[in-house]
Amino acid sequence: MRKPRSGINLSTVRSLDVKEMEKPQALYIHIPFCNRICTYCDFPKLLSSTGFIPEYLKALKRELETIPQGQLKTIFLGGGTPSVLNEEELEELLSYLQKSFSPSVEFTLEANPESLSESKIKILKKNGVNRVSLGVQSFDKEILKILGREERTEEETINCVNNLKSNGIKNINLDFIYGLKKEKREELRREIELASSLDVSHISAYSLQVEKNTPLFYQKDVVKDDDGLASDYDFLRKVLKEHGYERYEVSNFAKNGFESKHNLTYWHGDPYYAAGLGATSYVEGVRATRTRNIKDYIAGEKLFISKEKEDLSDQEFDFLMLNLRLEDGFSLKEFHDRFQKDFLKAYEVKLQECKYDLVISSKRVRVKKSLIYVLDQVLLNLLDFDKETK
Ligand code: SF4
Repeated sequence: MRKPRSGINLSTVRSLDVKEMEKPQALYIHIPFCNRICTYCDFPKLLSSTGFIPEYLKALKRELETIPQGQLKTIFLGGGTPSVLNEEELEELLSYLQKSFSPSVEFTLEANPESLSESKIKILKKNGVNRVSLGVQSFDKEILKILGREERTEEETINCVNNLKSNGIKNINLDFIYGLKKEKREELRREIELASSLDVSHISAYSLQVEKNTPLFYQKDVVKDDDGLASDYDFLRKVLKEHGYERYEVSNFAKNGFESKHNLTYWHGDPYYAAGLGATSYVEGVRATRTRNIKDYIAGEKLFISKEKEDLSDQEFDFLMLNLRLEDGFSLKEFHDRFQKDFLKAYEVKLQECKYDLVISSKRVRVKKSLIYVLDQVLLNLLDFDKETK
């Protein structure tokens, strides 16, 4: 079985600077605190109990003040778990963001059901948050335990979704993780059926990626092999479709019109601002990644661990790699406008190797629906990975 691509980490994908002169319309903000550390986690994060939150928020504000004020289209507060901030901290941060950037299309906050009380939901609503992405991962207590998540009952998740809706936040994503050996098909089906019965607008399903140096890496026999993951994915995709969730990206499924506008910024290769620990921005053609060291971040010292301006061939590589993650692929005209060449001519030889993997019409190129999960292999045939790894 070919290797899946669904767990791609966007922070490792180099951004495009083709659109470098365009002013970013999106802002990502990282809140790295969690009440508990999951067994599979490789994100920049630390325990809320470390006591860094007040100083971190001051440093974050200092960084946000360096971003030009004015209306943006999307803001995404991710983590970490932004909902672990207390009510006062949330109110201050969100009202500042609303005042400074008043996002016109989508203002998302990542949360977990355990830390999102009704009074916090009211604060979100009051300050313009119109989308919440809940890290549910599973409704099953045993699975949550293996993942190292906080204990939570099914009712708590259901109540959280209902509270969001009754307070006027109706655009809701639920994140799920699949791939544990313990979880059988009927249980996977149940997860999706329960999520769908809550009538949420978006569902993300990520395969469990075992990263080195995470506790899960040292647990044997817990995660399915590549064939098992691929088979779970296929099953989930079908169940999601049955319930009205259409795939628009490898791991993302939405009801019509509810695709994440913020995340589409990344996949389309548009520029975006970022702030916070470990966050990566792409502004004026420069991809800049911030430190993962909380003390350096708070001190404002050694803030960036890398800043890179990319050449045109890197931009082209990223354009293809990111856009082909999307169900709709990319437009031949857009490729031509960006790179001043004809895709079909430029890739004539390579296309011989992967012509059966792609669907090429007079206007667009996309990966065959049945191959999106094994995108890696298609990309290997199409792109020069050796050059990228030099
Ligand atoms: S909640 Fe997310 S960021 Fe926090 S430890 Fe778990 S996976 Fe990592």
